[in-house]
Amino acid sequence: MPKTANKLTNLGVKDIRDGVAGGDFTAREVAEAFNAAVAEAAALNAFIITTPDHALAAADAVDAKRAKGEDLGKMGGVPIGMKDLFATRGVQTTAASHILEGFTPQYESTVSQNLWDAGAGMLGKLNLDQFAMGSSNETSYFGNVNSPWRKEGSNAAMSPGGSSGGSSAAVAARIAPAATGTDTGGSIRQPAAFAGITGIKPTYGRCSRWGVVAFASSLDQAGPMARTVEDCAIMLEAMAGFDPKDATSLKMDVPAWEAGLSADLKDKRIGIPREYRMEGTDEEILKSWEQGKEWLRDAGAEIVDVSLPHTKYALPAYYIVAPAEASSNLARYDGVRYGLRDLPDGAGLQDMYAATRAEGFGDEVKRRILIGTYVLSAGFYDAYYNQAQKVRTLVSRDFAEAFGQCDAILAPTTPTASFPLGSLNDDPLTMYLNDVFAVPASLAGLPAMSVPATVNADGLPLGLQIVGKPFDEQGVLNAGLAIQQRANFTAKPEKWW
Ligand code: GLN
Repeated sequence: MPKTANKLTNLGVKDIRDGVAGGDFTAREVAEAFNAAVAEAAALNAFIITTPDHALAAADAVDAKRAKGEDLGKMGGVPIGMKDLFATRGVQTTAASHILEGFTPQYESTVSQNLWDAGAGMLGKLNLDQFAMGSSNETSYFGNVNSPWRKEGSNAAMSPGGSSGGSSAAVAARIAPAATGTDTGGSIRQPAAFAGITGIKPTYGRCSRWGVVAFASSLDQAGPMARTVEDCAIMLEAMAGFDPKDATSLKMDVPAWEAGLSADLKDKRIGIPREYRMEGTDEEILKSWEQGKEWLRDAGAEIVDVSLPHTKYALPAYYIVAPAEASSNLARYDGVRYGLRDLPDGAGLQDMYAATRAEGFGDEVKRRILIGTYVLSAGFYDAYYNQAQKVRTLVSRDFAEAFGQCDAILAPTTPTASFPLGSLNDDPLTMYLNDVFAVPASLAGLPAMSVPATVNADGLPLGLQIVGKPFDEQGVLNAGLAIQQRANFTAKPEKWW
């Protein structure tokens, strides 16, 4: 292991990229340092499989380019974790389900390909909630991820959030400088908040969904998870871009978000949605929200009251729309084409489908399929699915009206800090409520980011959320940067793994 290993694993995306380009260290040294850190951190269960050779090969390619004086790319020499929802050629892709166990795609997702083309390498495939359904990482077939964070004075295992919990845990534990996430109804922002890291879900359509295992196609969106706003801006630039293979991909150039970063919010108005003051929200979270307003005011912004009147209907509508789309998307797992096949003795085709699906899907996935099938069934379609689609339109309209009065919205990311693993298993409703602040922006397809703000009395991180206008990732990143500079969040989980 190189002497600089400890120092190297403390670096983020920008410092690694610049350090490799400047010759301070080689990409191989970086990859070796992170591979070693990953190998030591099995207790976190953040990775379903590790791919140290992929990281090394990508690093060697970058070092070779540097020797020839060639451009190293936006992510040149940065090894990352890849959420195991992205199809990776020749590398098992499971969506953390048993039904896809052993599935090795013949193709690469557009987002992961973009990252490799930008000079990144892969440390491994990160654990997640099964098919990205969950908020705690406990629905994975491969066991829960353990958050690197613990309450002060306690050894209780905590949730890293979900569904991108392997991603949040790996980045917080500094076994990966950054990771990909996907966000359907909060799965980048909520785990980022729980783990004290930064994550942005861009506008729907910015990142191609091609090769990403589908959960709810009208909501699914990929984005970066890293330790700083700058790192997220760099990585998002590498991930995003028009893709003719995704019918909902935005035909727009990728802005130079990194170059456009500015924490000066003069002439910006930040909206505070009054309906987000909800019962059950932790006092400390409300306090950090107040603090966030002060920080943004200090950065030059004017704070204004806005109203998002349909907020309370967003979560129920999400839990109709998302399962409806999931029930349709997951129909393809039938034991014929991918992964698992359960063919009981003497069974026919229908029995094989049923046995494979009974065996291959976890309980939460089955719950979603049942809900989704029900709300789409003849007789209930109008009462549930159509109604939820109408609510979705109203939620979008609320945002459009609010953005007449402000440039971005500030809210908490979650109603509570991380919770102990196992504590919400019998209470799916409270689990679902975790995404109450995240889901409205998902339904409206808006860019939204979580930035670490502070730690609570237990020493656990709390995040603040910025929601922006469509296509205004820059505005979101800039407000996030203003918070980052003032929050000065330096807390780290103490190493126990
Ligand atoms: N926790 C939410 C759910 O279970 C959101 C998940 C996600 O964004 N993938 O559906």
